[in-house]
Amino acid sequence: MRPLVTLIGAGPGDPELLTLKAARALAAADVVLVDELVNRGCLAHVRSDARIIEVGKRGGCKSTPQDFIEKLLVLYAKENKHVVRLKGGDPFVFGRGGEEVQALRAQGIDVEVIPGVTAGIAVPAALGIPVTHREFARGVTFVTGHTKDGSEPNWQALAASGTTLVIYMGLKNLPRIVAGLTAAGMSAATPACIIENGTLHNQRQQVATLGALRASGFASPAIIVIGDVVRFARNRDMRAAAELRARAA
Ligand code: SAH
Repeated sequence: MRPLVTLIGAGPGDPELLTLKAARALAAADVVLVDELVNRGCLAHVRSDARIIEVGKRGGCKSTPQDFIEKLLVLYAKENKHVVRLKGGDPFVFGRGGEEVQALRAQGIDVEVIPGVTAGIAVPAALGIPVTHREFARGVTFVTGHTKDGSEPNWQALAASGTTLVIYMGLKNLPRIVAGLTAAGMSAATPACIIENGTLHNQRQQVATLGALRASGFASPAIIVIGDVVRFARNRDMRAAAELRARAA
């Protein structure tokens, strides 16, 4: 039998947004390597005799080096353990899942991927924002606010795209993002929001316009959504739904 690693997306936060397939694979795991961003509630599916290894950054320490994580995955897979790699959101959306697949395949290890609900869709949805509502957007563009080499995206192209912009990891660079987009012709009056800890009980948000958005007081994980669809943002509806469900339970 060739060794196999299962790469799983844990979803954006709320542990109930984990897929059924992911829950089943977690229950079958011998070893689970888990990122910091993953809600600990997702580990409820892991067997009590399985080994859980936390590989994210904690307490302001530097994150576990990527090559060390990859070495651990290879090591356990070659011992024929059922290895699960659990990452926040979807493993292939800004999650380095691709790099892990490359490293594992290079060692002759097969990788099964179980996608997860990415924050870029689920977190706006937690405010009722439909990222591709056809009357307001031609599509949605996922952008990282933090690149490996510090380079800037093509603001002109983004501003002209007519798509909703969903920016991951953009909090620190918010002033640069706003300056880049407005210089490229996007109106400062474009609806925009910041959502921190989306889908979780401690979710917080600021719904404003591109020009008025302020990152102060917000911390990671947070995403920025820019575009007319942000007009749909409501917090009340979601809370009302949760209360109704709790009462029905
Ligand atoms: N693979 C993940 C993204 C990893 S990058 C996914 O598909 O969702 C980490 C970034 O995702 C964070 O910096 C933040 O921008 C965003 N993010 C993840 N979870 C979030 C949450 N619950 N609320 C807001 N943003 C979140």
